Amino acid sequence: MPTIDWTAAGDEAVALLQSLLRIDTTNPPGNEGPAAELLAETLRADGIEPLLLDSAPGRTNLVARLRASGGGEGGPLLLTGHLDVVPVERSQWLRDPFGGEIADGFVWGRGAIDMKNFVAMAAMVQKLLARTARPLRRDVIFAAVADEETGCDLGSRFLVENRPELVSAEFALGEGGGFTLTVGKQRYYTVQVAEKGVCWLRARVKGRPGHGSIPHEDNAVVKLCSAVARLGRTRLPQHVTQVMRSFVEAVAASQPLAARLVLPRLLNPVIAGVLLDRVFPDPTVARGFAALLSNTAVPTVLAAGQKTNVIPSEARCEIDGRILPGETVPSFLQEVQRVMGPEVELEVLRSLPPVETPEPYDTPVFSAIQRAVKRHDPQALAVPYLMPGFTDAKYLSRLGLKWYGFAPVRFPPELRFAELYHGHNERVPVDGFRLGLQMLYDVVAEVCAF
Ligand SMILES: [Zn+2]
Repeated sequence: MPTIDWTAAGDEAVALLQSLLRIDTTNPPGNEGPAAELLAETLRADGIEPLLLDSAPGRTNLVARLRASGGGEGGPLLLTGHLDVVPVERSQWLRDPFGGEIADGFVWGRGAIDMKNFVAMAAMVQKLLARTARPLRRDVIFAAVADEETGCDLGSRFLVENRPELVSAEFALGEGGGFTLTVGKQRYYTVQVAEKGVCWLRARVKGRPGHGSIPHEDNAVVKLCSAVARLGRTRLPQHVTQVMRSFVEAVAASQPLAARLVLPRLLNPVIAGVLLDRVFPDPTVARGFAALLSNTAVPTVLAAGQKTNVIPSEARCEIDGRILPGETVPSFLQEVQRVMGPEVELEVLRSLPPVETPEPYDTPVFSAIQRAVKRHDPQALAVPYLMPGFTDAKYLSRLGLKWYGFAPVRFPPELRFAELYHGHNERVPVDGFRLGLQMLYDVVAEVCAF
C-alpha cells in the first residue's frame, strides 16, 4: 500500500481550501466558474482530466472520474460538493469572509464548512489516489457543482437531467453530516442517511375592505396575524422516523446510565415537549433536536395593504415548511391548516420530497465510515443522522444512488456546527479538517481500492 505523507497532504488540502475561499461564489449570482477552473488546474497537476460543464454563463460544474482497473467490481462512488455559498453580512464578521485566513487554529471564510471544505478534501483524495496510482475496483467520481444554495437548478439538477451518465453511482458521499456533535462527554460523527423535504406555502386570508378610520372585525391583516402567531407558538405533532429512532438509540447506548434511560423517552410524543429542555439545557441544541422530531412551518414573508388609510381585502404570508421522511404534502397541509384555522387558504409554492437512503446500514460505505472514525478518533462514534435542511441529495438520489452525508470535520466541543452553518464567522478547525481528510481518504480507499 502506498504511504502518504499526511502532513504534506494536509498542508496541500488546507492551501486549496484557502484558495477556494478567496474566490467569491456568493449565490446569487453564483459565478462558480473561477472556482471550477482552479479545481480543474489542481486535478490536472496529478494527471486527472476533468470535464467542465456550464449550465449558464459563469455557472460551471466540474466532473472528474478515476476509472477502476479491469472493468471494476462495483458501481462507482461519487464524491460531491457545491461550490456556491450563501451571502454574508460583512459588518458582522471578525475576519474577511473571502480572505481564507488562518487564525486561532481555524481557516476562516464563507464556505469553510458549507462546503468548500469538503470540495477541497474530495479533490485532494482524488489527487492522492491518482498520484499513488492506487488500483481501483470502483470508479471514483468527483463532482463539484454550482447553485445548491438557491435550489440546485443549475448544478446537481442540471447534471441529473442532462448528463446523468456522468454522475450515476452506487454510493455518494456529500453534504449533510460528518460534523461532530458532543452529548455529555461523548463525541459523535453524524452520518446523514435521510433529509427532510421542503414544502413552501403561501397562506392567504380574505376580509372586508374599508376605510382605515373605522375599525371592523373582518380585517384580513388582523385575522392573518393571529393565525400566524398561533403557528409560531405551536409545535406540530411529533412523528418518530426510523432514522431518529436509530440516532437516539445509538447515542443512548453510549451514554452513562441516567442519560441512557432518559434519551429514548424523547421519542415519546406525549413527554418529548417537556423533556427536551431538561435533556438539552442549551436552547439552540433543544431547538435543533425538536426540528428533527416534527414537521416544521416557519412564517417568513408577510404582505398586505398598500395605503395606511385603507383596510385591504387580503393578507398573505409565506411559510417555510419542512417535512419529515414518511410524511407527505397533504398530511403536512392538514397539520398547518388545523393550527391556522379554516379561514386561511393554503397554496403550495414549491415542494421537494424528503430523501431517505434505503437500508443504509449494511453497506460497505457505512461500515467504512465506522471504521475510519474508530481509527482516527478512537473515543468517538459514527451515528445515523437526519438533516433538517436540503442538499444536492434531493436531485442526485433520483439516480438511485445511496446517499451518505459525510463531510468529516472534528469540531471542538464548545463550537457548534449549527451556529456556523450559514452564520457569521464561518470557519473550520484546521486540525479537525486535516483529520477529516484522512478519514475521507480511508473511506474512499476501503470502498474503492484494491
Ligand atoms: Zn451546503
